[in-house]
Amino acid sequence: MISIQLSDRVKNLPPYLFAAIDKMKQDALAKGVDLIDLSIGDPDIPTPKHIVDAMKKAVENPAYHRYPSYEGMLSYRKAVAEWYKKRFNVSLDPSNEVLSLIGSKEGIGHIPLAFVNPGDVVLVPSPGYPVYPVGTLFAGGESYFMPLKEENSFLPDFKAIPEAVLKKAKLMFVNYPNNPTSATASAEFYKDVVSIALRYNIIVCHDAAYSEVYYDNEKPVSFLEIEGAKEVGIEMHSLSKTYNMTGWRIGFAAGNKDILAGLGKIKSNLDSGVFQAVQEASIAALGTSDSVLSDIRKTYQERRDALYSGLKGIGLNAIKPKATFYLWTKVPSGFDSSSFVALLLDKAGILTTPGNGFGAPGEGYVRFALTVPVERIKEALERIKKVL
Ligand SMILES: *Cc1c(COP(=O)(O)O)cnc(C)c1O
Repeated sequence: MISIQLSDRVKNLPPYLFAAIDKMKQDALAKGVDLIDLSIGDPDIPTPKHIVDAMKKAVENPAYHRYPSYEGMLSYRKAVAEWYKKRFNVSLDPSNEVLSLIGSKEGIGHIPLAFVNPGDVVLVPSPGYPVYPVGTLFAGGESYFMPLKEENSFLPDFKAIPEAVLKKAKLMFVNYPNNPTSATASAEFYKDVVSIALRYNIIVCHDAAYSEVYYDNEKPVSFLEIEGAKEVGIEMHSLSKTYNMTGWRIGFAAGNKDILAGLGKIKSNLDSGVFQAVQEASIAALGTSDSVLSDIRKTYQERRDALYSGLKGIGLNAIKPKATFYLWTKVPSGFDSSSFVALLLDKAGILTTPGNGFGAPGEGYVRFALTVPVERIKEALERIKKVL
């Protein structure tokens, strides 16, 4: 028997937040709890039928059974460019300003390998999506956490970052509409991002996974709409949240061609692209009619309104999201993130995500995901009322 030793990079990993939550979920289910799972941002609504139909047809095509191209089919990249033009009025050259991803998580995890040397700094929002610091760790980089505070509308305060840190920074992750805080960003904010990036030579990776999950018809802006953005950065999108396609594993990155080429170098050595039938179905997804999308948004809006007003009614300080399907909520006094999540699970059979799991500045908050039907949200509210 050999001695099996994990590498330092794996030993240094924090426990993956959602793996720990899944364990809590399995334990509760094993005890027979009628669990209401408001923890993970995985849409419960099925993928729209026209996308599934396009997949059924595409899967029959033997040309798609072979290795895909690394950067994605040109037809897929063209569909992305057309979508960007229509949605954001941003022009992209499909030949070198669009790159397919196996979900945006893949692109986020890999981009530090392309640009970060050991000891380099990566600017990472906190609370934030756990893959930003983990991708940084795998590349040997050091995360500098930019706290997202309620008093700053959950935007990073660039003036609070020491000059020496900015000088060592190679890459900055930005994410709006934001997970977990549900905050959105204005064009003004993105202008600040561009000017910091130009001044300190920092590559910007904007994670726009939730750009299409918005409310009250207030469409989020794209980072790439900002003058100069394409000189400093890229934007990553996911089909997962927009089209209820989390299981399909497809996304894309768009923007600066040299940054995309660097990421592409990592990818071509590690993966072999996205199943072309999935890309074909994604072309159908990108062409989804406004009426289908507005039905999806209506469903989330109904849930958001029910949970937001319900939590307020119980006296919980929830923030009303303008986008994303999360409610970032202050825990009641006398609790911290972990003890409140434990109370909801043990006494009410409701699973939520502790805010501190997204980073220390998330302490004192809990995240509710709107990924169950409105009847279950109402049931959850009744149960919370009883335990408080
Ligand atoms: C869900 C999510 C992603 C990853 O989505 P993919 O399914 O990998 O495309 C990326 N960033 C944020 C902030 C997310 O919440």
